Amino acid sequence: MKTTSEIEIRNLYKRYGSNEVLKGVSIAAREGEVISILGSSGSGKSTLLRCINLLEMPDEGDVYISGEKLSLRTNVRGQREASDRGQVQRIRSQLGMVFQSFNLFSHLTILENLIEGPVRVQKRDRRECVDEAMALLEKVGIADKAKHYPAHLSGGQQQRAAIARALAMKPRAMLFDEPTSALDPERVGEVLKVMRQIAEDGCTMLIVTHEMNFASSVSNRVVFMHQGVIESEGSPDELFRQKKSERFSKFISNHVTA
Ligand code: ADP
Ligand code: MG
Repeated sequence: MKTTSEIEIRNLYKRYGSNEVLKGVSIAAREGEVISILGSSGSGKSTLLRCINLLEMPDEGDVYISGEKLSLRTNVRGQREASDRGQVQRIRSQLGMVFQSFNLFSHLTILENLIEGPVRVQKRDRRECVDEAMALLEKVGIADKAKHYPAHLSGGQQQRAAIARALAMKPRAMLFDEPTSALDPERVGEVLKVMRQIAEDGCTMLIVTHEMNFASSVSNRVVFMHQGVIESEGSPDELFRQKKSERFSKFISNHVTA
């Protein structure tokens, strides 16, 4: 493992008007580390992930991707903004993001969805991208759907396609925001299986999830958020079994584990 973190956020603050959503959050993920971010609805988990790839601008604090600090400045209206658009584009393409809603391009086939970024954004050779995309579809178990449109796939298949599409960009890390929350219960397992496989391949991952058994078994570390701060963090063993935090224990007892 490298000493530099693949993703590091330091003392992040985010407000929406008077609503302070993140109140000094720091997390560092080393290369290959899998961190699950757990917490009640409204605790700031999505905002945190969105601040990492600058879909939201943090009000205070810094984000580092592979040791490179995202340069932010305060504009004349007092708002935080990126001072280097090129850097934002580059950093975003290094972070794969998978959302609750599958976010595939509905007018493109699954294969076209996968090669869109590599060919158009990364300007890579189309033939090579198609080969890699097919290998990724094989990996997530939907190679037979390559020529289909997203609407013809089940939710679980669409989410696996979305994961493959993110991986096609060869990201340095993957961010998942409740990737199985919109799925029918019988489809959840197939997506978690793919995520577990990616984790075993050594991908650096930040995963917001309510799948407690999955988080407990796949993560190196668990971060529990409560009202915009990290209430507790530790190994799955420390949090789930040694019950290091009373509040976390109460939280998981309110969740049905899959
Ligand atoms: P979580 O993902 O843990 O459920 P969120 O990060 O989505 O939490 O939201 C945290 C808080 O921030 C909530 O109170 C939510 O209403 C608020 N919030 C999130 N996004 C916005 C936004 N774009 N504008 C205003 N408030 C927001
Ligand atoms: Mg959320």
